[in-house]
Amino acid sequence: MSKDKQFVKEITPQGEDFSRWYIDVIKKADLMDYSPVRGCIVFKPEGYEIWELMQRELDAKFKETGHRNAYFPLFIPESFFQKEKEHVEGFNPELPWVTEAAGEKLEERLAIRPTSETMIGHMYAKWIQSYRDLPLLVNQWANVVRWEKRTLPFLRTSEFLWQEGHTAHETEEEAREETMRMLDIYRAFVEDFLSIPVIVGQKTPSEKFAGARDTYSIEAMMKDGRAVQAGTSHYMGTNFAEAFDIKFLDRDNQLQFAHTTSWGVSTRLIGALIMVHGDDRGLNLPPKVAPTQLIMIPIGPAKTREQVVAKADELYAELKAAGIRVRIDDRTDQSPGWKFNEYEMRGVPLRLEIGPRDMENGQVVLVSRHSGEKRIVQQDRLIEEVRTMLDDIQKQMYEDAKSFMQDNFKSVDTLDEMRGMMEQKRGFVLAGWCGSDACEHTVKEETGATSRNIPFEVSEHKSQCLVCEENAKHTVVFARAY
Ligand code: AMP
Repeated sequence: MSKDKQFVKEITPQGEDFSRWYIDVIKKADLMDYSPVRGCIVFKPEGYEIWELMQRELDAKFKETGHRNAYFPLFIPESFFQKEKEHVEGFNPELPWVTEAAGEKLEERLAIRPTSETMIGHMYAKWIQSYRDLPLLVNQWANVVRWEKRTLPFLRTSEFLWQEGHTAHETEEEAREETMRMLDIYRAFVEDFLSIPVIVGQKTPSEKFAGARDTYSIEAMMKDGRAVQAGTSHYMGTNFAEAFDIKFLDRDNQLQFAHTTSWGVSTRLIGALIMVHGDDRGLNLPPKVAPTQLIMIPIGPAKTREQVVAKADELYAELKAAGIRVRIDDRTDQSPGWKFNEYEMRGVPLRLEIGPRDMENGQVVLVSRHSGEKRIVQQDRLIEEVRTMLDDIQKQMYEDAKSFMQDNFKSVDTLDEMRGMMEQKRGFVLAGWCGSDACEHTVKEETGATSRNIPFEVSEHKSQCLVCEENAKHTVVFARAY
């Protein structure tokens, strides 16, 4: 067997064991490494650069919509958590505590932040006095810690990187508008930048953020049919304002509590990206989020090598100047076939091959990682052709992920039907729900699926609860989730 084939065989096929496939891919593509601390991972450059691209894009969107970045401390005094009852109940089990520093016991324990509503609430109470101080629109890029029982690289880690937006407003209406605006920014980002279609909707009360009035989410389907919550946006009402005393004098000189929101996406998105687009050959990155968009591989015999490499270097400089994230692999100790496999495994969306015959004809060959499509293009039109092909790949990846989601989305009427579906194939299930926690709990117990959200747009409205058969209050998407 050739070296190339052996290499590919090292990734467990998705159909054989999806979880092993995932771990094989992230390790072979060199995205992360395990750390000595349970549940915490090291983001290696190949993985971290994906996050940097996400950050850059989102950060621009936040700024376009009037938000500014700030940074709040990592440590949160214990007393802050006691101020909002639901919040403390929700987060307490996951909090690590600092009890001692510089050899002395601290007077008050400090939590390592799982999220910053409490710290930011405390600060906003000082900063907000009048309606003129509102809206206050702040975002923070940070690490947070939640001591998760079950962890999986990127998708659920004990320490993760994220952004958390925290805003305060004069009225409920404005705060709700903000909650929806940010949810839509997430939707557009995940769909356009990551080529991942999502279901947008509201969380059921049992799944909402601890302390929020309403939580909204975008949910994505992985290739094994399981769901990933890809982003959340919360309307807090005046819960945190009351707990932290965020009050302002309104336009009629009356003291009012501010209405607050928060919203976040995390490095979990890297995991979703891998599980939505990856295949048995490895990682498969949409061009917009690929640290390397184009890999150039000079080919051909030793006698023409120098000339071919010189031409490749020239084209490389042009591509780079045009803003394309390009790399060239002109190593001579690996065969072209090995390199093709290597960069496919690493998910580089586009490959450029150039050999002696291409030189003669003034052309190059472009090959799509996603579809395998080959285009022979003229060198003097290279930049346009590369841009077109990267755009096409970006769209094609979205369309393919969307078809996959549609094919694995079923509407059911009974719990039996749903159980059957979860046992054989998984996927998303649309079902009626009466609104009771008990019925939602039964679904989880019996099928392993949880409610993902109550979608804003549905193909049909279900009339009966799938568990108790009473009238359905909502049509809900259920799925097993990561
Ligand atoms: P939340 O503050 O719970 O609404 O979560 C904000 C964002 O972080 C959501 O997109 C979650 O899916 C994501 N998230 C929550 N817990 C983790 C975790 N342990 N690891 C990675 N991402 C997470």
